[in-house]
Amino acid sequence: MTEKKRFRVFATSRIGDPAENRLRERGYELEVFDGPEAPPKKLIIEKVKSGIDGLITTLRDPIDAEIFEAGKGSLKVVAQIAVGFDNINRADANKYKIPFTNTADVLTEATAEFAFLMMGMLARKMWQSERLVREQKWPSWHPFLPFLGDEVTGKTIAVIGTGRIGLAMIKKCSGFDMKILCYDPAYQNHEYIAGIQETMNLRHARGIQKEKTWIKYVDLEEALQDGDYVSIHVPLLLEIETDKPTYHFINEKTLKMMKPTAYLINTSRGPVVDEKALAKALKKGWIAGAALDVFEKEPLPANSPLLDPEIADRCRVFHHFASGAKITRLDVDPSKGMAGRTAQAVIDVLEGNYGGDPTKMPYVVNKEAFVK
Ligand code: NAD
Repeated sequence: MTEKKRFRVFATSRIGDPAENRLRERGYELEVFDGPEAPPKKLIIEKVKSGIDGLITTLRDPIDAEIFEAGKGSLKVVAQIAVGFDNINRADANKYKIPFTNTADVLTEATAEFAFLMMGMLARKMWQSERLVREQKWPSWHPFLPFLGDEVTGKTIAVIGTGRIGLAMIKKCSGFDMKILCYDPAYQNHEYIAGIQETMNLRHARGIQKEKTWIKYVDLEEALQDGDYVSIHVPLLLEIETDKPTYHFINEKTLKMMKPTAYLINTSRGPVVDEKALAKALKKGWIAGAALDVFEKEPLPANSPLLDPEIADRCRVFHHFASGAKITRLDVDPSKGMAGRTAQAVIDVLEGNYGGDPTKMPYVVNKEAFVK
């Protein structure tokens, strides 16, 4: 019997015991960078140069030609524990013919759920309410003092980007009797939208919801002008990558198109929103508020205009936490957890599953590099 090759993998972060153990139990030599922060790029290059077969990355690691060059002849897979992969240079991965993988689907519901809950927390002023109670500043129940919030139920939401998470957000919003405007220049799922409209009609016919509601694809202007809430679900795409970039998609111009009573929700990527423009919009009252899970620079620097106390009542900020639920992040089952999916992606490539053909491997992103 020939001896089985012992694969070497370096992970730039812990991915939790269950998924790490799965690799170790299969005989993998897994080295994990232990710090809560990302390792310096120099260290990643050093590890890759030492001849590892697989590299597990997070969205904090810049993965480009320098890394692939260091792994020439030995590095076989880069497995990212996230669905977004804007930190990985796809063209460079393709040039070096290294498959890279992501964790789509398993985080869809958790991320959409968080976007929905951020929206409710912002509009119903839950942060202000809790502060009032904690700081002993709650004088007495009153019909409208010290403040009121805005309802979510029955309002209109504009969902920007109708991919996996956008569609899951739509599903959650339809349960709150919301009217739904959809915008996506590249992918329109009319079948899903028709299904949502049918459930809306049925709920109305059976008296489950009082008002008739609707869902439709519209152009960007209509989505921004008519939405009481605008929720962003696009990938970060730069001008050099596409003719429909999303970098600073929300800027002075698009913010001015929104209603002064509207709220912006962003769980996509920080650079999709021009933060300077957003802080200005919140200060000047161009929009009513924003809830943000992601930032142009993470962690958010202390001098960010978004932390200006003047807009604290209208600007909710979270620590890139939308997919941060236990099962979603750590479950070892690749159909449930990001960690499990990442481990499976490494196994698929290194052990040559699917006949060793990356175009057939479900978690490989850059399949185009392997089409014969
Ligand atoms: P997806 O690829 O399924 O959907 C993205 C959609 O955006 C696609 O339908 C695409 O056509 C559309 N799109 C692209 N450019 C657009 C534009 N200019 N205007 C409008 N729509 C456009 O991706 P997904 O799984 O739904 O994830 C979306 C993004 O959410 C990820 O790329 C990631 O950056 C982010 N994300 C964040 C968290 C978090 O923890 N905050 C978690 C998961 C995903």
